[in-house]
Amino acid sequence: MFVRRIAVIGTGYVGLTTGACLASLGHDVVCADVDADKVARLTRGEVDILEPGLADLVAEGIAAGRLTFVLGAASAVRHEPEVMFLCVPTPMGVGGVADLSIVESVIEEVRALLPADCVVVNKSTVPVGTADRTEELLDRTDVAVVSNPEFLREGSAVFDFLNPDRIVVGGSKQDAAERVAALYAKLGAPTVLTDAPSAELVKYAANCFLAMKLSYVNAVAELCDRLGANITDVTEGMGYDKRIGQAFLQPGPGWGGSCLPKDTSAMLQLADAADFEFRLIRATIDTNTRQRQRMVEKVRIAVTGKRNGSLSRRRLALFGLTFKAGTDDLRDSPALAVAALLRQAGADLVGYDPSLRPDTQNPDLSSVTVSDDPYQAAKDAEAVIVLTEWPEFRSLDWQRLAESVRNPIVVDTRNLLDPAVARRAGFEWIGLGKP
Ligand code: NAD
Repeated sequence: MFVRRIAVIGTGYVGLTTGACLASLGHDVVCADVDADKVARLTRGEVDILEPGLADLVAEGIAAGRLTFVLGAASAVRHEPEVMFLCVPTPMGVGGVADLSIVESVIEEVRALLPADCVVVNKSTVPVGTADRTEELLDRTDVAVVSNPEFLREGSAVFDFLNPDRIVVGGSKQDAAERVAALYAKLGAPTVLTDAPSAELVKYAANCFLAMKLSYVNAVAELCDRLGANITDVTEGMGYDKRIGQAFLQPGPGWGGSCLPKDTSAMLQLADAADFEFRLIRATIDTNTRQRQRMVEKVRIAVTGKRNGSLSRRRLALFGLTFKAGTDDLRDSPALAVAALLRQAGADLVGYDPSLRPDTQNPDLSSVTVSDDPYQAAKDAEAVIVLTEWPEFRSLDWQRLAESVRNPIVVDTRNLLDPAVARRAGFEWIGLGKP
């Protein structure tokens, strides 16, 4: 294997994982970020995101001298990288389009500094046409641009990076694309070598498909509620079909996180700009918005016994605030979206999440008082609402919880708990799509 000098710009979930994993594969990696405190912490080996195995890989990389951290993309380029990965945010911009301003500012920052023959690799999720646009902005015939979307999942980022289902690399210069694909050769994953627009579209098409699958199962769960069918049995029966598969068939309070909402929205805008009305995606997003409201309706009926009952001053305990279990990421969390709707309806909210402490600073938590003790959070609550699928909620002492709540009602928006256990403890258990 060739050892390459690699620069990674952005040290978030994707960038830090990419840098640490490429260093573990033997490459010589320099990671850059604009956040000076973060760079200082990472240089000391301190990782402040919750990702299994990441802190160990970072420590190993630093100790081996294969992983360093610098402030700013320009400093990283001074290390004369042969390959430079862009792993910076591409948030939802005005009108739902992907905001590429950070990608473009990094290109502007490094364009005159990049060594000849460097390959710029876009790992950020970017709309079709971004590689071409990047080439234009670079205006360098000696630098190639390649699209290499990332598919890792938060909560298992290192595992996913090192055990990918596939590697997708696209670019107009075959040799540059092959050079990037070769970085992953050790992983033995199927590799799709294609042009840049196709590689860029793979990422959106995959994420939109996952969102569609979740919206679909949430709608089927609603139908189960109305028809008296059991969603667990329905999805089990569906999932054995290899064309469908069991993954992403669990109903929940709606999908969210830092990717699916912005990527579905960007895909819709991409289609719109191409004069194509992508109704499936519109319906996927609308179903998701409706799902969050439906959770509030379920809580309202459970707590007040009425469809139009008031939640004003009702104390509710929210179990789980992150967008899914196994991460501390709150970005676009469906749990917080439901919390905001409950707060709007006047409820008083106390939240417990295994990854959060009461002093966690985050503006998205403004509607919830965070407790680090589930029994304390449940004290005097008129209902416990399970919003994130943390497995540890199953092994709480539900008997003890039943004694501390005001009303022993649990609305389980993840169908996480064993209803028999909750009922034995004295709770009324309300799930999704459960007769
Ligand atoms: P993040 O917010 O966790 O990290 C981004 C990092 O980039 C931050 O540390 C930030 O300080 C840094 N940064 C911002 N501007 C910079 C600049 N000008 N120069 C250097 N660093 C800069 O983001 P993320 O979740 O890692 O996502 C990055 C990209 O990867 C996005 O396009 C996202 O859609 C995509 N993606 C994310 C995931 C995921 O699960 N998080 C998975 C696949 C793809």
